[in-house]
Amino acid sequence: MNRKLFSMLPKVDDILGTQEVSSILDTVSRVIVLEAVREEIEAMRKAIAEGVITSEQEFKDLLSGLYGRIIYKVRDKNDNKLKSVINCTGTVVHTNLGRSLLSNEAAEKLSELSRSYSNLEYDLFYGKRGSRYSHIEYIIRKITGAEATIVVNNNAAAVMLVLSTMAKEKEVVVSRGELVEIGGSFRIPDVMEQSGAKLVDVGTTNKTHARDYENAIGEDTAALLKVHTSNYRIVGFTESVSLDDMVSIGKKNEIPVIEDIGSGVLIDLTKYGLSYEPTVQESLKKGVDIVTFSGDKLLGGPQAGIIVGKKEYIDKMKKNPLTRAFRVDKFTITALETTLKYYLDEEEAIKNIPTLRMLTKAVDQIKVDVESLKCELEAIDENKLLQYSTANVYSQVGGGAMPLERIPSYAVEITSKNISINNLENMLRKVEVPIISRIYNDKMYLDLRTVKSNDIDKIKQGFIQVLKQIEGELS
Ligand SMILES: *Cc1c(COP(=O)(O)O)cnc(C)c1O
Repeated sequence: MNRKLFSMLPKVDDILGTQEVSSILDTVSRVIVLEAVREEIEAMRKAIAEGVITSEQEFKDLLSGLYGRIIYKVRDKNDNKLKSVINCTGTVVHTNLGRSLLSNEAAEKLSELSRSYSNLEYDLFYGKRGSRYSHIEYIIRKITGAEATIVVNNNAAAVMLVLSTMAKEKEVVVSRGELVEIGGSFRIPDVMEQSGAKLVDVGTTNKTHARDYENAIGEDTAALLKVHTSNYRIVGFTESVSLDDMVSIGKKNEIPVIEDIGSGVLIDLTKYGLSYEPTVQESLKKGVDIVTFSGDKLLGGPQAGIIVGKKEYIDKMKKNPLTRAFRVDKFTITALETTLKYYLDEEEAIKNIPTLRMLTKAVDQIKVDVESLKCELEAIDENKLLQYSTANVYSQVGGGAMPLERIPSYAVEITSKNISINNLENMLRKVEVPIISRIYNDKMYLDLRTVKSNDIDKIKQGFIQVLKQIEGELS
């Protein structure tokens, strides 16, 4: 250890007084700048103490990069931690990347509402207290044909509220083949237990018959539950009881039928080449008493859990104390209302709701974007550090919907002789607007199905940054 170097360490106040650092203080809180300066000086002190640097020359080299490191650190600390990223994975409803994007109109409504008072719980007609749920009742009923509706924070909360209201300390019959786990820790059996309902699972993993439900029905049965197996399929020697049959078993025994339909599809997507997913309207038409679904999966709206069905049950849910705990805020309501209005005209929904627009985007359109991005990346990469081509790929729906669906798509394919593809992927995740890509067989793919046209420029900026970094590492 060279002790003399300690005395050469700059003082915090001296650094704060320099032109480079004091200019950041105009835009960034002093607390953050001070912390960054202290940490960087401490890092140098540690390097001396551990004998990583021993000569004056080494010290000077380290010192010369100090301001750059401080400024980088300040930016890193000051940036919002939750930020926009570019989704080049081709998975449209990507739960880790925030699921559905909102339309421009919904975003504008959100922005406006966030800066003004609203009639959230105020009845403008009578001039007295109103209900926050009233604003979206009309549109949800209009689109789904439901008698009544209530909206909560997400579909997991919706399932819990429904069971707690309709089946607390009673039995709910559900098929063994439908005891699903939806990512994270959402497991149907756990949610049911939390709600106070008692789970009675019937049938086997691959086969459940109508008589299984009938045999399980007893004095304590409060409901039959159907859970849409959104994120997996049981294939082969299988049998499940159709919704129609469940409804007639329910009717015969005077027991309500509840369906957790998961994704909340409101239009028949087979017309657009996607596989069949049951719609909310169909379930209600078949006579299901209560249907629950997510707002931010295939519906393409904000995070929400939507409950539709018979008024007698929904009215009870409104009085359940859990409703207060699960209640949605004004942002959810306005984003959902704006999104749902598009569904009054199917064409408008496909055109304006980003999730639906991306899912139905023609591969030829994606090809045009991919070819042009490939050429632009080649032009940026003057020293040919990476190799670019194009490839047929498959996009996915995501969000635990249509698990087997493979939507033909097109992507920029990138390989590298200079750095590992994992390293490249890592670097792209750390640029100013992070680029999330997909790796397969040691190649990188940028599927542009999930990329907005105004993000193409940000992809180029990201590559410029990364190419500089690679060049630095190679030299
Ligand atoms: C996704 C899903 C849920 C959970 O919905 P969230 O809105 O994420 O809470 C519940 N049930 C099914 C069948 C689902 O597909």
